[in-house]
Amino acid sequence: MAESEVVIAMDLGGSWVRVAIVDLAGRVVWRERRPTGSREGKDAVLRNVDAALEEGISRAAGMPVAGVGLGLAGPVDPETGTMYRPPNIPDLDGVSFKALWGGRLRWPVVTGNDATLAALGEYVYGAGAGAEMLVYITVSTGIGAGVVVAGQPLWGAHGMAGEVGHMTIDWNGVECKCGGSGCLEEMASGTGIARIARERLPHGPRSLIAEASGGDPDRATAAVVFDAARRGDPLAEDILRGVSRALGAGLVNVLHVLDPDVIVLGGAVTQNWEYLRPAVEDYIRGHAMPHVHSLGYRLEVSPLGDDVGLLGAAALAWRAAGRLP
Ligand SMILES: [Zn+2]
Repeated sequence: MAESEVVIAMDLGGSWVRVAIVDLAGRVVWRERRPTGSREGKDAVLRNVDAALEEGISRAAGMPVAGVGLGLAGPVDPETGTMYRPPNIPDLDGVSFKALWGGRLRWPVVTGNDATLAALGEYVYGAGAGAEMLVYITVSTGIGAGVVVAGQPLWGAHGMAGEVGHMTIDWNGVECKCGGSGCLEEMASGTGIARIARERLPHGPRSLIAEASGGDPDRATAAVVFDAARRGDPLAEDILRGVSRALGAGLVNVLHVLDPDVIVLGGAVTQNWEYLRPAVEDYIRGHAMPHVHSLGYRLEVSPLGDDVGLLGAAALAWRAAGRLP
């Protein structure tokens, strides 16, 4: 029965491999996650991903499966599905799940970069319906982004389009693991906020951040900084003013380069969007070119939350099965 048809959607990150059964309307019928085991070597990771797939297949027993979609953390060749030097799962360099599973499974297997698929998830099931140029930006441990142009994912020549986390915001800034310096990720991600707090605590005024971290700067987290700022802590407020400016500068660059009509923000840090929003919008008002203001754009927090990657993988699988335009 066509109504009960489903796809198996997967999302492979450095920490977790998620698997879900998703219907055509984007309803998650079942989901599970298990550790990726990225520190235990290639065989362990491949075993864990395989086990997640098998679990998904066995849970889908009795439901007609239309395909398998898999989002991968890192560069993915859009044609072959081969991963290239994925920074968070380095052992999977050169691996193609499309090739590994394609011959073995009865269904089409499609893969893509996880951030690009998240943008597709927003376009098909989230805040981006009908967008001409949609940019999805996740601000979490790191900062990633994906782009959908006229309904089509923008993969880039090597599956890496949309690395907004590593655009330079301050070339005199701190060195980034990517080789650049002053990257947006270093200045506005959850990890970046914690680092800035750690560096500023010993020199700043007495702060609630120190109190909440038990006097140990290494235990300061982004959540602690937001909490302290809400309670009027001057150091936390100042740190987040800088974070807002960095995010504002990043968004201005995105607005100028891509001319999006919709930008969707996701990730843990944007749970604090209401706190950051006034200063970010202020920065954009003061720094974007006039056409940005006169023509307008929509800037929204993702309604899909943690499911966005799975839903993007599902959307790609539904498209491959010819069931979504
Ligand atoms: Zn970087």
